[in-house]
Amino acid sequence: MRAPVLTCKAFHPHDRYVKKLIALFIALWSLDAVAQTGQAWDARFRAIPEARNVGEYVRIMSARPHHLGSPYGKQNADWILARFKEWGWEGQIENYDVLFPTPKERVVEMVEPSRFRLTLEEPPIAGDPTSSQKQEQLPPFNAYSVDGDVTGPLVYVNYGRPVDYEELDRRGISVKGAIVIARYGASWRGIKPKVAAERGAIGCLIYSDPHDDGYWVDGVFPDGPMRSKDGVQRGSVMDMPTYPGDPTTPGRGSTPGASRLDLKDAATLTKIPVLPISYGDAQPLLAALTGEPAPMDWRGGLPITYRIGPGPARVHMKLAFDWSLKRVNNVIARLQGSAYPDEWVVRGNHHDAWVNGAQDPASGMSAELEEARALGELVKQGWRPKRTNVYAAWDGEEQGLLGSTEWVEHHEAELRDKAAVYINTDGNGRGFLGVAGSHALEPLVNAVAKEIEDPETKTSVWKRMQARAIFIGPQPARNEARSRPDLRIGALGSGSDYSAFLQHAGIPSLNVSFSGLDNSEGIYHSIYDDYYHFTKFQDTDFAYGRALAQTVGSLVIRFADADVLPFQFTSLADTVQTYVGELQAQLRQQQSETKELNQQIEEGVFASIADPRRAPRHKPVVDTVAPSINFAPLENAASALTQASERYKKALDTSKGKLTPEVIRSLNKSVIQSERQLTHESGLPRRSWYRHLLYAPGFYTGYAVKTVPGVREAMEQKDFAEAEREIVRVADALNRETELINGMTKTLEQLAK
Ligand SMILES: [Zn+2]
Repeated sequence: MRAPVLTCKAFHPHDRYVKKLIALFIALWSLDAVAQTGQAWDARFRAIPEARNVGEYVRIMSARPHHLGSPYGKQNADWILARFKEWGWEGQIENYDVLFPTPKERVVEMVEPSRFRLTLEEPPIAGDPTSSQKQEQLPPFNAYSVDGDVTGPLVYVNYGRPVDYEELDRRGISVKGAIVIARYGASWRGIKPKVAAERGAIGCLIYSDPHDDGYWVDGVFPDGPMRSKDGVQRGSVMDMPTYPGDPTTPGRGSTPGASRLDLKDAATLTKIPVLPISYGDAQPLLAALTGEPAPMDWRGGLPITYRIGPGPARVHMKLAFDWSLKRVNNVIARLQGSAYPDEWVVRGNHHDAWVNGAQDPASGMSAELEEARALGELVKQGWRPKRTNVYAAWDGEEQGLLGSTEWVEHHEAELRDKAAVYINTDGNGRGFLGVAGSHALEPLVNAVAKEIEDPETKTSVWKRMQARAIFIGPQPARNEARSRPDLRIGALGSGSDYSAFLQHAGIPSLNVSFSGLDNSEGIYHSIYDDYYHFTKFQDTDFAYGRALAQTVGSLVIRFADADVLPFQFTSLADTVQTYVGELQAQLRQQQSETKELNQQIEEGVFASIADPRRAPRHKPVVDTVAPSINFAPLENAASALTQASERYKKALDTSKGKLTPEVIRSLNKSVIQSERQLTHESGLPRRSWYRHLLYAPGFYTGYAVKTVPGVREAMEQKDFAEAEREIVRVADALNRETELINGMTKTLEQLAK
């Protein structure tokens, strides 16, 4: 269907009265069209995005290195703002001044048993034109490492997780006074120096093992997609599970001139110097370690025998950074709502990269831009979003979600009042649609996924998601994927710009991307994440960029135009019920594992299996079995929430078509506050910035989510008294949610009378 074209020469086009009449006619026509065809506007929207536009935006934004504070980063922000304006949006750039240390000096050398100086460089590759833009590239480093000049024996610590140090303990190996070398993967990189420092290490190297993202997986760049011998993963190591954003302005926007903490009081800097290296640089170091072979699952893909040390290799590390402030350029664009301008649909992706960043972030930022263009086209066709669309292009994401966090902290009061939802993307690939976020949005996500065509298989992206869920399993999940009306969406930990929205301000959020069939991890945060690699190995024709724009744009339109915001609390309640079951199962498992261990100690198992020719292992000691915990408050609150959400669903279904504007306003006011009920002002234990009681990044896993984090992590740390206190806090939050939903049901039931 096409919009009517009004060309009536009898009217003078400048006549205000006539203009009003025309506008009224368009509005009436649009209302009629939507009423007749249901989802008319979002179906029309989906025909507009074009893959070649997505590709052109990627090419432009990734043409030069564009990290926070760089000239091309500023140029990109200006270019993005100009595009929004060209497409009919209002907008401006909002600035913050943030702490971003950049390297002044990087030296790493092995000083014993032989001398070897690490290159610490990624060389240009012939045929890859942007890989040679050395003048503008940030060298490989980890942001928010402290300065340091240290020398010590080297110890290999596998992925550097707490569980890896438990293995070292059993072997009687300490990292006190040592420099540890950990491999990337299995936990977020910032966890590695954090745990190493807690264990007494004085320095930390992180390398990319070919087993995880190199030749063990596929051919290496430029012949294949994977990380080559000299490829290095840059990245932030700030203690993000404590709080993201500028380390010196926790909880408030770092507007120019804002008061800030002294560097020595910034809690999220590392305690020891840390630097990322390539496996080309790591191999001589690892090969110089002696001692027993490392455990089977510690061995990577290098052609050496993996050993732990300590030593005899000794390493000298010297790092110095420029600790000056850099300027964040957030682009914030708006498309004003016609009926509810003070209800906002917020959408964002970051525009800054570590280097050229064609995949991370340009492939996601380009989809957002193509959505913005298409929404502008819809406006030309007569669409007027009921709610205001706020489209953001964040700066400084890579350092620690700086742009989005400072913006949310700065505008928190207004966002809590107005923001109905935040939808995030952060790069895009080829393959399967992946969505995680607030579970009350699960049915909407499923409905939209059924409308989007997979560009390569031509089935719906939902069908493909379902097939994968069945294929991956395990069995209960398989049957659920076959029979449950909605596929489950994941829960959000951290690692992208939704964190401040969801976990600090309590705004319902979604994170969306396609992935699974490219090998983008092979160039992640390196100089080779560029247009050349993306068009050779990833979403080569930008078809999935188009699909991402179609998916997120459809979500935006549904949010912008729904009478009652499309939240389905039965899905939240169902998810909470599964979490309660998981927590109870976790306790049972902890109890049975301890019982089993204690029995093995009694049976003398550890003494009997020891190899008498090897160094003795520290034998485990008898542990106390975890006590029973009172889950009743949580169980009762979860079942009250289940009942309340079912009643609301019924009441809403029966009142379809009867809702008055006042009722709609009142319901939406409550819906906008619904995610907030799941938060607590005082936050999680020992990390008050994180206020959401259902979702948080793990304190010792980093990006990966911990659901019901207060309870789950207390149990993992064996603090069962804290677990019981947290159970009560989570139950209270669920009860507040139930009360809010019951209030909405009451409004609807009164209407029916
Ligand atoms: Zn990113």
